[in-house]
Amino acid sequence: MRFTSLGSGSSGNGLVVECGTTRVMMDCGFTLTATKSKLESRGLAPSDIAGICVTHEHDDHIGGVARFAKRYAIPVYMTRGTAQWLPEDFPAALVRYIDSHTPFAIGAIAVEPFPVPHDAREPVQFVFTDGDTRIGVLTDLGTPTSHVQEKLSGCHALVIECNHDLDMLMTGPYPLGLKQRVSGRFGHLDNAAAGHLVESLDRSKLRHLIAAHLSQQNNKPELAVKALCEAVNCEPEWIGVAAQEDGFAWRDV
Ligand SMILES: [Zn+2]
Ligand SMILES: [Zn+2]
Repeated sequence: MRFTSLGSGSSGNGLVVECGTTRVMMDCGFTLTATKSKLESRGLAPSDIAGICVTHEHDDHIGGVARFAKRYAIPVYMTRGTAQWLPEDFPAALVRYIDSHTPFAIGAIAVEPFPVPHDAREPVQFVFTDGDTRIGVLTDLGTPTSHVQEKLSGCHALVIECNHDLDMLMTGPYPLGLKQRVSGRFGHLDNAAAGHLVESLDRSKLRHLIAAHLSQQNNKPELAVKALCEAVNCEPEWIGVAAQEDGFAWRDV
């Protein structure tokens, strides 16, 4: 299996997982043109995408889904709560409702959704597996739960939210209400909390650890890397960072 991020952060998220000839996209917060060119830069055409798994209805995740899916007739997998945010003219034939606890298959890839505390209607995150290798992605999470820990334990690759540095957020320019929302139980994971979560997991198979969904206002890549390094006791070079502009290149797992 291999995976790549097309961009990550509050201005748009998208990730592709490949297993054999099956490619699944997770979220699409980009315009049609941007999505196409991002895929091209990874050697893919839109028609290579077998399905889009959507985590929740926030614009940085769902913003580009309907247009892209409709244009290329790609099925979209989402909870009923998230599906409420699809435009009314979205073709029903392309909607695949998922249960937030029930795994499903797209070609060669088994997708395991899991519910997360986040300020959306029915948000999930995903583990992608071929039955052996596991790639866990977690980009929007207020508070880690024991269920989240269970799902992400034993993964070979982890893409994990390091949204903000708590000091930068609290002393930064956001209004108080927004600071409270971002740092709250249904908001976003800060660097330290992401570190603690990773530290609590079974990491015996972990080969890739990538910080994602970094706030451009309230975080710096080096702070996210430092927090994850301390958690797993590794060299900084070993930690990846998913950039807003261009995510990260293909990684083989
Ligand atoms: Zn987000
Ligand atoms: Zn969100």
